[in-house]
Amino acid sequence: MPGFELFGDNERKELNDVLENGVLMRYGFDGMRNGHWKAKELEKELESQLKVKHAQLVSSGTAAVSIALAAAGIGAGDEVIMPTFTFVASFEAIMMLGAIPILVDIDDTLTLDIEAVRKAITTKTKAIMPIHMCGSMANLDALKVLCDAHDLLLIEDSSQATGATYKGKPLGSIGDLGCLSLDFVKIITAGEGGAVLTNNEKFYTNADHFSDHGHDHVGTDRGAESHPFLGYNFRISELHAAVGLAQLRRLDEFVSIQKRNYTIIRDALSQVPEVTFRTVPEGGEESYSFLSFFLPDLEVARKVSSAFKEHGIDACFHYYDNNWHYIRKWEHLKDLKTLYPLSEEVREGLKYLQTKTFEQSNHYIGRNISCLIKLSWTVEEVKERALKMVEIIKEICS
Ligand SMILES: *Cc1c(COP(=O)(O)O)cnc(C)c1O
Repeated sequence: MPGFELFGDNERKELNDVLENGVLMRYGFDGMRNGHWKAKELEKELESQLKVKHAQLVSSGTAAVSIALAAAGIGAGDEVIMPTFTFVASFEAIMMLGAIPILVDIDDTLTLDIEAVRKAITTKTKAIMPIHMCGSMANLDALKVLCDAHDLLLIEDSSQATGATYKGKPLGSIGDLGCLSLDFVKIITAGEGGAVLTNNEKFYTNADHFSDHGHDHVGTDRGAESHPFLGYNFRISELHAAVGLAQLRRLDEFVSIQKRNYTIIRDALSQVPEVTFRTVPEGGEESYSFLSFFLPDLEVARKVSSAFKEHGIDACFHYYDNNWHYIRKWEHLKDLKTLYPLSEEVREGLKYLQTKTFEQSNHYIGRNISCLIKLSWTVEEVKERALKMVEIIKEICS
């Protein structure tokens, strides 16, 4: 997945444009910039490639999620439904606004289980946030039906699935709002950065102002701008946007390299009867950033995971034992270890984490291994890797 593997002349050229010109900020300084607007250009490129009316670049993917929620008016005491399998950023972004993350089970798609979502809806629920983990997606049609029936917003976190599509539409463009990350390990990197995507005019304007102190961005005199509402600084810099611009132009190429490498490994693993693959919802096409598969049980998965490491099969993750991506090891969240006091509403709202077990999630994550698909591998390297993986799994399962 990581776009940084193919960082090169194009990225340097865009970056040098900014350095030679000297305007490192995305807003203002119109006279000095000689027509260089990297952030604006990248936003246009995102809109065109991801087929969405508006893209607002921001400082990170985590910020993008907070801004998307804020833009839709979600805040203190509101509940947002999200899956147990994601990156810690997802609940952080919800909690930053004083809202309450409601974690629910995943299924064999490795994303939200529809029935678990349905059961979690209360009068406080404001949004459902599917997180398209490891290059594939949640069943967006089923979630849309739930959203419509209960008057909820659908907010996609597509940080790990840029380049994937659902029924022909790019992920991130389908919900009321979509969020992307452009951090260093994502398929398209800007070093750091993120984007909010939406077809909704009002949400876009809100995101645009909110991410720059609430400034209204009217006219060419920044000092004279007014503030329709409070905001913060979540701006991206021109330096980051320049790198992202060069990278985004290669999205299709990156996806096709990943597809080639993914297919070689998948075809090889398909020969092993004990291996099954993650379900991709009907109409979905992955970004091929990861190949995710299931083994018969937790014990086998643990053995395969350590054997992979011993034999140099790097970048394969057994998320059950991982501190970053799965609820099992998020003690800091369960124990509410914050640097500052949380509201009583949030403390109450998160009490369920003390007692709720997520057996169904454990069942899937315990047996799952997700292998990152790299861009820099040669076909020979991938074939060799695939053979080794098959050998290791066969040996452990025999
Ligand atoms: C990377 C990631 C984020 C956060 O992105 P940053 O740009 O690192 O803040 C959010 N959600 C998921 C699923 C991610 O993988």
